[in-house]
Amino acid sequence: MLTGKNALVTGASRGIGKEIAKTLAAHGAFVVVNYNGSKEAAEETVAEIKEAGGDAVAYCCNVSDDKACGQMAQDLIKAYQHIDILVNNAGITRDGLLMRMSEEDFDAVLDTNLKGTFHTLRHFSRYFLKQRAGKIINISSVSGILGNAGQANYSASKAGVIGLTKSAARELAGRGINVNAVAPGYITTDMTDAMPEAARESLLAKIPLGRAGRTGDVAKAVLFLASPDSDYITGQVLSVDGGMAI
Ligand code: NAP
Repeated sequence: MLTGKNALVTGASRGIGKEIAKTLAAHGAFVVVNYNGSKEAAEETVAEIKEAGGDAVAYCCNVSDDKACGQMAQDLIKAYQHIDILVNNAGITRDGLLMRMSEEDFDAVLDTNLKGTFHTLRHFSRYFLKQRAGKIINISSVSGILGNAGQANYSASKAGVIGLTKSAARELAGRGINVNAVAPGYITTDMTDAMPEAARESLLAKIPLGRAGRTGDVAKAVLFLASPDSDYITGQVLSVDGGMAI
C-alpha cells in the first residue's frame, strides 16, 4: 500500500510513535525513526522493522529546536530525495495544577508538542509543495478537545495542534497535500504508566468502550490517513479514544 513512500515519524523510539513506524513499514514505507534521547530504543525500533522485512533508519533530532528540524529536513531530502508521509507524534507531559504550574513546565510542553509540530511542518512543507503531494498526520489528544484538569499546558498544546492542522490543511490543499490530526484518548504507554493510579482509574471510567487503547489502535488510524484511501479527507481530527470525546 505504501511501497515507494518515505515516511518520517517523530518520537518513534517508544510508545505510539514506535507502533506507527512499525505499521507504516509493514505496509511498505521506508521509515525514518526520529528520537531525541532514547538512541538505543530507536535503534531497537529500526531492528524490529528490519527483522519483519521492512526498512528504516534512526535519526536524532530535538523537534523543539527549529534549526535542528531544518537540518533534519535537509539531511533527509539529500539522503532519500523525498519524504511523502510526515507524522508529528513527539510529545511530552509536565502535569500539574494551574496555580502551581511553572512557566518553565508550560513552555517545555508547548515547545515540544506545538512548536515541534510547527517546526517540522514549516521545514518539510517546502518539499511537499514542490512534490505536489504528501500526507501529514499530527498527533493531538482528547485533552486538546475536552481539556483536562492538571494538564493546562498539555491541553493547550494539543488544542493548538488542531488549529495548526486545520490552517495547514487549508494552505496546502491546493497542492494535493492532506493534513489531518489523530486525537488519541487513554493509550497504554510510558506516558500514561507515569500517571498516578487514581488518575488512570478515573480516566478508564470515562471510556464508553470500557478499555484503555492500544498503540495499534492509533497506528491503524494513522495508516489510513497516510494511505491513498484517505485522499479526499483533509483538515479533520480523527478521535481514537474508545468514545471518550462523544
Ligand atoms: P511516550 O511513550 O512518552 O513517547 C514519547 C516519544 O516522543 C518518545 O519516542 C520520545 O523520544 C519522543 N520525544 C519527546 N520529546 C521529543 C523531542 N523534543 N524531540 C523528538 N522526540 C521527542 O509517549 P506516547 O504515549 O507514545 O505519546 C506519543 C504521542 O501521542 C504524544 O504526542 C502524546 O502527547 C500523544 N498522546 C498520547 C496519549 C496516551 O494516552 N499515551 C493520549 C493522547 C495523545 P525520546 O525518548 O527519544 O526522547
